[in-house]
Amino acid sequence: MKIQNYINGQFQNPISNEWLENYCPSNGEVYGQLPNSSKADVETAYKAAKDAFPIWSQTTLDERSRILIKISELIEVNLQRLAEAESKDNGKPIRLAKSVDIPRAASNFRFFGNAITQFASESHESVGQNAINYTLRQPIGVVGCISPWNLPLYLFTWKIAPAIAAGNCVVAKPSEITPMTAYLLGDICNEAGLPKGVLNIVHGLGTKTGQAIIEHPDIKAISFTGGTATGEHIAKVAAPMFKKLSLELGGKNPNIIFADCDYDDMLNTTVRSSFANQGQICLCGSRIFVEASIYEKFKTDFVEKIKQLQVGHPSDDTTDIGALVSKSHLEKVMHYINIAKEENGIILCGGNKITVKDFENGYYLEPTVIEVSTDDCRINQEEVFGPVVTIMPFNSEDDVLHMANKVKYGLSATLWTNDLKRTMRMSNQLQAGIIWVNTWMLRDLRTPFGGVKASGVGREGGFEALRFFTEAKNVCIKY
Ligand code: NDP
Repeated sequence: MKIQNYINGQFQNPISNEWLENYCPSNGEVYGQLPNSSKADVETAYKAAKDAFPIWSQTTLDERSRILIKISELIEVNLQRLAEAESKDNGKPIRLAKSVDIPRAASNFRFFGNAITQFASESHESVGQNAINYTLRQPIGVVGCISPWNLPLYLFTWKIAPAIAAGNCVVAKPSEITPMTAYLLGDICNEAGLPKGVLNIVHGLGTKTGQAIIEHPDIKAISFTGGTATGEHIAKVAAPMFKKLSLELGGKNPNIIFADCDYDDMLNTTVRSSFANQGQICLCGSRIFVEASIYEKFKTDFVEKIKQLQVGHPSDDTTDIGALVSKSHLEKVMHYINIAKEENGIILCGGNKITVKDFENGYYLEPTVIEVSTDDCRINQEEVFGPVVTIMPFNSEDDVLHMANKVKYGLSATLWTNDLKRTMRMSNQLQAGIIWVNTWMLRDLRTPFGGVKASGVGREGGFEALRFFTEAKNVCIKY
């Protein structure tokens, strides 16, 4: 199977005719090829986007909304096919792709198709000066969207939908590790009547294709989700060119459990917040802090539940944990487990690769729980981004707050308590862009989404995304 670039509404081979191999994580085999696109391909995509911009930016909001909602409907019609493709490409359980990834991709288009019809700008009457100001929110032009491999279509569309809703034209690159569903989106956009050139998808390596996007002088905004080191690099390249930047980066999120919580609800949700998508979600709570009075009970119950999780082939409906995304990622996660052992972490369960019958070369790993005695260790400070969590007890609110905030990241935090005053005190002081109390990953697409510190700059979601993808221009009229 050969994936092609989607440029100007058409599928095209890379100009150089160079290709990369696409691996299937569940069996470790190459099952297709994708373009190893160069600067020349990005330039072709840019030109198509630039040519489409004058008409698309003047297309009525009703019409843009209609097309976005049509794309959303077609994603739903193709749910099964897209979920199968996502599961095969990424290694995630088909159940998850069907219930979370693909429905959310459809929601992204529907949400921004509706949101753009409600997006308004401000006016300010300058009282006593006989003047009125109004603010235009104009599309930027051609923008770049770069997304990672963990939630491929989900995060790809989370950027593209607001970008085109706001009237921009897009040059987008999905991760080279999971290009398949972005490729399939091209046909859906054509069928929905998205004018050619409004969305252009260029496949290839981050360091080559992605690099060509971020250093393109006329791509004036970059929306990026990925690792913190890549985000830092992008900021260095883009800042001197004064590009607008939205960076959604890594996390090392605390999951803080107080004794007064609803225990069963907490336990079940903590299994999910630790290991959903093989722990490869930037929002997973990878540092679990438990109040000392319930620590031993939690430890026993949690480990028992984790041992029951089924690691298996992603297409099997009984699978809870599928394959990790790539061989190199599996090795990275194993490396961190070894670091934890060297740091005297106690492996309470997991820690080993697993062989799944008939799929012996797949990238499977046991869900791993590590007991640590200090929050200073590397396994508690660095992002692993796999099925690995640490647990440790705490004695007081002050102690746990201190430990929760003592990492370079600040994406999300989860808090389990029924004490309202404590909830409000801690929510105010936790250094994170998103706080979940007595829940995890409950998403309302209108809310601001993003991190502080090394977890990123800017916010996605709702009108925040539409503000990012537009330039504010104030007009002052004296009368
Ligand atoms: P990477 O940073 O490696 O890659 C992300 C994307 O950037 C990929 O498409 C990649 O291409 C591309 N890229 C890499 N180098 C460059 C470059 N020089 N210029 C332009 N683009 C480039 O992240 P991963 O794909 O490994 O994703 C995992 C990371 O994403 C984790 O750290 C995770 O926390 C973070 N993440 C953050 C989220 C958030 O909302 N804050 C949500 C989900 C994930 P390619 O892969 O083809 O090399």
